[in-house]
Amino acid sequence: MIKRYDAIIIGAGQAGPSLADKLAGAGMKVAFVERKKFGGTCVNNGCTPTKAMVASAYAAHLARTGSEYGVNIDGEIRVDMKKVKARKDAIVAASVNSLETWLRGNPNIAVYLGHARFESASEISVGDERLTASKIFINVGGRAVVPDMPGVNEVPHLNNSSMMDVDFLPRHLVVVGGSYIGLEFGQMFRRFGSEVTIVEMSSRLIKREDEDVSQAVLEIMEKEGIRLRLSAKCIAFRKSGDGIAVGVDCENGDKEVFGSHVLLAVGRRPNTDDLGLEKAGVAVDKHGYIAVDDQLRANVPGVWALGDCNGKGAFTHTSYNDFEIVAANLLANAPRRVSDRIATYGLFVDPPLGRAGMTEAEARASGRKILVGKRPMTRVSRAIEKGETQGFMKIMVDAETNEILGAAVLGPGGDEAIHCVLDVMYARGAYNVIQRAVHIHPTVAELIPTILGELKPLEPVPARTA
Ligand SMILES: Cc1cc2nc3c(=O)[nH]c(=O)nc-3n(C[C@H](O)[C@H](O)[C@H](O)COP(=O)(O)OP(=O)(O)OC[C@H]3O[C@@H](n4cnc5c(N)ncnc54)[C@H](O)[C@@H]3O)c2cc1C
Repeated sequence: MIKRYDAIIIGAGQAGPSLADKLAGAGMKVAFVERKKFGGTCVNNGCTPTKAMVASAYAAHLARTGSEYGVNIDGEIRVDMKKVKARKDAIVAASVNSLETWLRGNPNIAVYLGHARFESASEISVGDERLTASKIFINVGGRAVVPDMPGVNEVPHLNNSSMMDVDFLPRHLVVVGGSYIGLEFGQMFRRFGSEVTIVEMSSRLIKREDEDVSQAVLEIMEKEGIRLRLSAKCIAFRKSGDGIAVGVDCENGDKEVFGSHVLLAVGRRPNTDDLGLEKAGVAVDKHGYIAVDDQLRANVPGVWALGDCNGKGAFTHTSYNDFEIVAANLLANAPRRVSDRIATYGLFVDPPLGRAGMTEAEARASGRKILVGKRPMTRVSRAIEKGETQGFMKIMVDAETNEILGAAVLGPGGDEAIHCVLDVMYARGAYNVIQRAVHIHPTVAELIPTILGELKPLEPVPARTA
């Protein structure tokens, strides 16, 4: 027998639960389907556990460097990985449980545990159950890619999900992928005490960022004794003794890195291949992302896609914003669009990077006249006082409109300080607004008005010599 609802939501990621609550609050009968764990990637295998582990790694780092601050710790600093994992698990469990309790406690929401598949544009199966609704919301997220590299399936390897079960210290962790996820895990395990090598195909780390950001992050990693193999054009895997040999280069330097464990952090793909989308006629792009319009409607009326599976964002805050957009359009008659969103995100290495809007490269490519202001953390009192002077701040402004185009804050509290720029960008305020604001001393953010008082025209990119 088919069960009828007003709405079906597939996936308990960062958009689905809040949307379910909102629709139920508006009097709709909602069917909610989750196949694994409430909270999805962010809560179980992403933001929450990694940031909990980053905090443990930071504690280890401070303990090791305490003598620089006059705090002597006699004896060996040992990291108890079982305790690190138990702490992380407790934080995750609290979040998962409260989410599940919240959803199940709503009389207008029926929770189904199982894998949802489309049977038609308005019908879903979950095991033997059949559900139908005129509105279906897909929030199925993504998963780690296993790259098509020689030997990858012949060796054991970890990804962001299986890393969550690691309660021991890998002797030598080889991280394949020098971008956001790989860097976080790399620094974290180095601080726990593992030897760490990061292998990256590109000639620099986090190649989506500007070159000065990549370089500063590289220096942060190298200072902690993380080995980096960039321009690794020949990545391949083979078993070697009780470990794994990772081929890194066919021509220069050591051709292989020998690790005890390998973490693959080379990208993610949407969970859309096993949803039966073809039965509903829902279109995807060539990477499997569900094609949506500016209000997150799929090509089939009555179907929406939210979060990582629509390719419009890859973050918890973008997924949550998708919920806000859909809810505002459906329930509040308040048109909101994805294109109103300003790109923003953090890289949670220590010190962290906060980013908003365009990179310098994007600002150049926009063809506008650009003013730029930059200050190293060696000239920021708070960073000096904390003994954390790696990194810098950079802000790009449109010389004609005075609009802030983008910013990067790499340094202590960079993930927080960036918001004072971001909020003015949303307000479409001129940069002078911040310049006249009085910020708290001593903070990293207090130097943002100073930087904006020292803007200079962006220098042309020097021609590369062959
Ligand atoms: C290691 C790591 C660290 C990260 N750190 C950050 C960070 O610090 N900040 C940040 O903003 N983002 C971070 N992210 C990204 C963030 O986790 C994702 O962008 C976010 O979780 C996307 O949420 P979502 O709503 O798209 O779906 P997800 O959170 O992925 O949830 C999707 C849910 O759908 C379920 N599902 C899938 N298919 C089906 C089906 N057929 N039937 C039923 N259920 C199904 C899944 O089980 C899952 O529970 C990180 C990611 C990783 C991997």
